[in-house]
Amino acid sequence: MTSIKTAVVTGATSGIGEAIARALIANGYNVMLAARRVDKLATLADELGAKAAYHPTDVTRHSNLIDLVAATEVAFGQVDVLVNNAGIMPLSLFETRKVDEWDRMIDVNLKGTLYGIDAVLSQMVSRQDGHIVNVASIAGLQVSPAFGVYSATKFGVRALSEGLRQEIAGKNVRVTTISPGSVATELFSTITDPAVLAAMQGGFPYDPMQPRSIADAVIYALSQPTSVCAGEIIVRPTGQGAMS
Ligand code: NDP
Repeated sequence: MTSIKTAVVTGATSGIGEAIARALIANGYNVMLAARRVDKLATLADELGAKAAYHPTDVTRHSNLIDLVAATEVAFGQVDVLVNNAGIMPLSLFETRKVDEWDRMIDVNLKGTLYGIDAVLSQMVSRQDGHIVNVASIAGLQVSPAFGVYSATKFGVRALSEGLRQEIAGKNVRVTTISPGSVATELFSTITDPAVLAAMQGGFPYDPMQPRSIADAVIYALSQPTSVCAGEIIVRPTGQGAMS
């Protein structure tokens, strides 16, 4: 068995996922990059070098996650760490009835996380070794207008993560949930509700974090002794009081 660990990162083509991938490479991991935009995956993998590979993946498709893990096993041997990071945030008011966007948020943020877990869990449990990191949000701790469905998905990610952690606590497989506050990424580009977008573009009375700060939290969780599970980590901009 190799001593170099291998991590899979979903949503690796921008923002937090890209920063996590960079930090993992810097900390000696092999990294399998996963997302839908193949050109971005290829460019990043090329930049990161021989310890990085990529596999085009839509996390809303269960079979894509199974294929992703199989491709990682071929490239690097096994999956030691899965970072379920892919997410979208098309915030809207309920009255605007953006049902398709509700469906997409549930499919990507919630079901995508479940599909990732399913793709790695049996191998990790049978090896009695592994670490699953799920990226939730402070919107999984509190709710505001327009955040209802997004928050529901992120409350859900926190709930399933804690349930999973409890089930496999005796199997030496760790589960970490990271709940970021505001981070400067492309996430707001998924908002189509003009009123919500205008409110968001009005800016906030604090500077958002850079994605690297969330990557640092992931590295913190991974670098604990295997007997220590950083179960939940909340990282906010210092100036962020309420959610937005
Ligand atoms: P970005 O929009 O910058 O990145 C989102 C990533 O998810 C992209 O790489 C995108 O890649 C990927 N993605 C979207 N849909 C799919 C899909 N169906 N299948 C595979 N990958 C997909 O946003 P962030 O980096 O900010 O978001 C990362 C995570 O952090 C999300 O879960 C988000 O909810 C969470 N978060 C973000 C916060 C913030 O303030 N930015 C705060 C709290 C939590 P591609 O389009 O190539 O598929």
